[in-house]
Formats: sequence, structure tokens, C-alpha cells
Amino acid sequence: MKLTAFVLAAWLGAWGQAQGIDYAKIEILTEKIAPNLYMLSGSGGADPGHQDAAGGRIGVLAGPDGVFMVDAQYAQVTEKVVAAIRKISSEPIRFLVNTHVHVDHTGGDANFVKLGAVLFAREELREEMSRAAGGDPARLPAITYGMGDPVKFRMNGEVVDLIPVRAAHTGGDTMIRFENADVIMIGDFYRNYGYPFIDTNNGGTLRGALEALELTMKASGPNTRLVPGHGTVINRTDIVPYRDMILGVEAKVREMIGDGKSLQEVLAAKVTAPYDAKVPGGLLPAGAGTSADRFVSMVYSQLTGGK
Ligand SMILES: [Zn+2]
Repeated sequence: MKLTAFVLAAWLGAWGQAQGIDYAKIEILTEKIAPNLYMLSGSGGADPGHQDAAGGRIGVLAGPDGVFMVDAQYAQVTEKVVAAIRKISSEPIRFLVNTHVHVDHTGGDANFVKLGAVLFAREELREEMSRAAGGDPARLPAITYGMGDPVKFRMNGEVVDLIPVRAAHTGGDTMIRFENADVIMIGDFYRNYGYPFIDTNNGGTLRGALEALELTMKASGPNTRLVPGHGTVINRTDIVPYRDMILGVEAKVREMIGDGKSLQEVLAAKVTAPYDAKVPGGLLPAGAGTSADRFVSMVYSQLTGGK
């Protein structure tokens, strides 16, 4: 039981330090996905934790009312992100909202606040961030909200909804819906590169992640584009096999726990094998082990009450 906590701590430690990232090599690539909505991603091959695209994806809503941003990437690439935004719009960067606390999404927050952006996030995210060792007060959100109705922004001809998600990838997740563009940025509770990562140290839960997937399907129409923090853009039908994979692995792990198996025995049984061919990056290192091992360890920990 101690080993589970140890292994998770090792993974999270490796993640927290964001080791081995070649920031100088990261280029910021811009993709226009609606008339005034853009997605900015880091280039591949520079971030060992995210081989396909460095850091977390940024959203930029541009127009005469100023720039609205979703997430801020690593602090080390802020200048490149600003340069990419300036190619889209010369208006002030007014608002920034975080999908969740992880440094590949929030590292640049303080830099954008210094440039004049007002930072919005869940109250839980603010708590997670203020707990983090060496937390910079300038990174703490100025405006926070809880689990109530969505916070709405009306700007640049768009209606933007900040939809709070209960304890999923972390304890302070938000989905950001752009109503007219019919796009939802869903953060990291869904991912199609590597196995799911649920950060239980920051309040994430397996049950919450499954609920978040249901909420996403309910909030989406047939043409809604769902933009994860990492990986490719999907729509609601892509959620179904992902949810079923989580439920399948959970059922297998539960069965083995019922048979008295230890975490080591469950990991050795390679319970993700039926899914590995369909999960790109699933067997690549994610901190101290593969993302499959990290995922199975999390499921084991959640099903045994974190012991
Ligand atoms: Zn994350």
C-alpha cells in the first residue's frame, strides 16, 4: 500500500519538475478553427512528457473586444506564445482562464497577468496552486468561481461559458465552451495520446473523470468539436470508446483486487493489453513508468481507497 503512494509520488514528482524539456526547441504552431478562434500548440519532440506536442494547448478568441485566452503553456515559452498571438491580433490580452492547475497549462500565467490579463479559475485550482511548493503569488487567479452555473463572457461576437467540472483530472477542472464556434476546450480529463492521467494528489478522481465524460457528451451537439489539452480534436462519439476503455480496465483491476492481488501483480498482468494498439503513446514513459502503468496504479489506488 505504501508502494502505490510512493510510485504515484515519483510520477508526480517527475511531472512537477517537467524534466528534460528543451524549451528553446519548442515552436508555437497556430491553427485557426473558427473565424476568430485559434488553437496554439507546442511543436513535437521537445517535451518528453508530451512527445506529440510540447505543453498544453492554448485557445485564443480574438476580435475588437480584446483577446480571451484559455491556458498559458510553460512560462519558458511565453515570448513565443505572445509572438504567435500578435500575428492573430494586436488587441490587448484581457482575460485568461485555466482548464486546470498543471504547469504545462498554467506556467505562463504570471507573465500574462503582467501583460494585463485578468486570470480566472476555479476556487479549487487557486487552492491547489497556493499549496504548490514555491508557488508564485502572481500566478494565483484574481477571480475564482465554484461548482455553480457557468461563468459567461460575451465578447468578440462570441458567448464563452466556463463550465465547472467536479473533481476529474484535478479538483479544479473547467471546460470552456465557445457557443457560436461550437467548440469546447475540455482540458485533460480526456486524452488520446497516452492513457488517462488523473491527478489524485490535486483532487482528481476516477468517478469524477467518468462523470466529466458524460457531462461532455451532454454538453455537445453532433458537430461540436472537442479540443483536449493534448492530442487531436475529437467529437462526442469519440468519448464512448474512451469511457468504455476506462470502465474495462477498472472492471479488470477490481476483479484482481477481489482476488487479493497486489499492485505489482496487477501491473505485471498488463491489463491494458486489449487497448494498447488503440492508445498511441500508451506504452511510452510518463515519469517513472509508462502511462499505462501510471493509469493502472491510479485505478488500483482509487479502488482501494488510496491505500
Ligand atoms: Zn494536466
